[in-house]
Amino acid sequence: MTATNEQVLEAFKPFEQFCKAMLDAYLVVNAQGKILKSNPAAALVTGITSKQLLKIDSFNSALSLSIMEKPITAAEILQNTVPTRIDDLIGTTNQGTDLNLTIGYFPFLLDGRVIGAFILLRDVTAETQLQGKYKDKASKSITDPLTGLFNRAHFEEYMNVEEKRIISLPVGNDHRNLSVIMGDIDHFKKINDKYGHPAGDFVIKTVAGIFQKTFRKTDVVCRYGGEEFLVILPASDHAGARIAAEKVRQAIESQVFDFQGTIIPVTMSLGVAQLIVGQEHGKDAIARADTALYQSKQNGRNQVRVHTGADVVASVINAA
Ligand code: GH3
Ligand code: MG
Ligand code: MG
Repeated sequence: MTATNEQVLEAFKPFEQFCKAMLDAYLVVNAQGKILKSNPAAALVTGITSKQLLKIDSFNSALSLSIMEKPITAAEILQNTVPTRIDDLIGTTNQGTDLNLTIGYFPFLLDGRVIGAFILLRDVTAETQLQGKYKDKASKSITDPLTGLFNRAHFEEYMNVEEKRIISLPVGNDHRNLSVIMGDIDHFKKINDKYGHPAGDFVIKTVAGIFQKTFRKTDVVCRYGGEEFLVILPASDHAGARIAAEKVRQAIESQVFDFQGTIIPVTMSLGVAQLIVGQEHGKDAIARADTALYQSKQNGRNQVRVHTGADVVASVINAA
């Protein structure tokens, strides 16, 4: 053992007794990352016995570390001259197991130089997976399983929040605008009847993909019903929303819907309305977009109509 290794162990000595009570894995390493001491928990995390851990060149050989798929080396960690905590690490063991780790790093310094460190390894794999499951569950409750688009419940919730938010913005601010587009696939019953229900599902999924591609990231696209789609366009007036609706109409018209070698002709009728802020609720704007959509159907389908609000009976706005 070199003099420096002895110095590192000497520096660790004051902590040695209470480290015995530690539930997390820990390593004492020299400036090259060579393990000088470890506890049984470290053997469990790395899958390497305590005795073997003392034989390897660097703790990096027992556990390769990365953050967001970018490798992080022992040398990089040991450059830190101040105690550091590193979150969101992935540690891959020699058996190929990926662990979610949080590292606590405490350097031992001699004349301002790192001569070694105490490294705490907390295995947070179980907690991280649980969080992932919750996230998954949360996203499932607001998305439609067939298309992955937002569902109607999320749409209504979003609309309520947006409506309240924009009403407080100054009049004339673009961000006070909000429009909705409602689209309904033309003669969809015939598609189901002629090509079968799976072909119908394929059409719905493909149309959903076109909607996702056409609209901006800030627009909220939702599957409102069977073959009905609704979009909220924040900061858009009805002229802008009309252009977007026309774009999606054309994209659907020119898309080749090839279902198992059969080409299915598909078109969509759309209706647009801009929320009359302070005078109606979101659901009223949706009802007007639906009226415009109905006009598109009446006028021969495969077209966009705009409801400007002139002939609309809006429900009474609550003072709240
Ligand atoms: P229009 O041009 O007037 O809209 O005619 P349409 O035939 O599309 O009429 P409508 O919108 O009333 O028909 C919707 C049909 O969509 C009824 C239902 O059988 C079918 N449908 C609803 N949800 C699904 C689904 O998830 N998959 C499939 N394949 N069909 C569905
Ligand atoms: Mg319909
Ligand atoms: Mg339809």
